[in-house]
Amino acid sequence: MPRLLLAEDDCDLGPAIRRALELEGHAVDLFTRGDDVLAAARGGDYDVILLDLGLPHGSGLEVLRALRLARDATPVIVVTAFDRTQQRVAGLDAGADDYVVKPVDLEELAARIRSQLRRRDGRADDSIVVGPVALDFTGHVVTLDGQDVPLTAKEFRVLALLMRRSRRFVSKADLEAELYDHDHWAESNTVEVAISALRRKFGRDFIRTERGLGYMVGGQAR
Ligand code: CA
Repeated sequence: MPRLLLAEDDCDLGPAIRRALELEGHAVDLFTRGDDVLAAARGGDYDVILLDLGLPHGSGLEVLRALRLARDATPVIVVTAFDRTQQRVAGLDAGADDYVVKPVDLEELAARIRSQLRRRDGRADDSIVVGPVALDFTGHVVTLDGQDVPLTAKEFRVLALLMRRSRRFVSKADLEAELYDHDHWAESNTVEVAISALRRKFGRDFIRTERGLGYMVGGQAR
């Protein structure tokens, strides 16, 4: 479970953001003072830090500079008021990885956190391209030759796993696990149903099958 450090001194906004991010499946530690944030960031093993710049007892900017000076590369998303362009620029200059603007859109914040986690995992951006197919994790949009292709949630998950592991075979068991993690029920042919729907939408040859090995995308010319 990803661990987030949330620095926010607004006594309504902080707990509201924490609740929303916990529902997204993150573990969240909330701090309201700059000095506490810095101590926690130095001692804790956080995946992403969400940093309000206007904090008492050590501004967010001071916290960020101190972390980067100490070569702490934990991804930092700065939270700033919408009319504070200079603050935003200062945050990015001080080593922030991204920013969101208040009033905070919780869905956008969650997407930006996912993006930072992906980047940390070695995926350069929010999308994967395999041949003519592009998959955008943040927007849950998939295109074929630039045209949107509507997918069900299950089809999206199956395709996302195949594309993350492109040019390698993915076993049916792995694909089933990807679905079962989210749905506690699944029929035995769920994977086959999703694969045949994906083939209808992206072309028969886009997904290769080998008996005993599983399924693969991107392994050969289309
Ligand atoms: Ca504040």
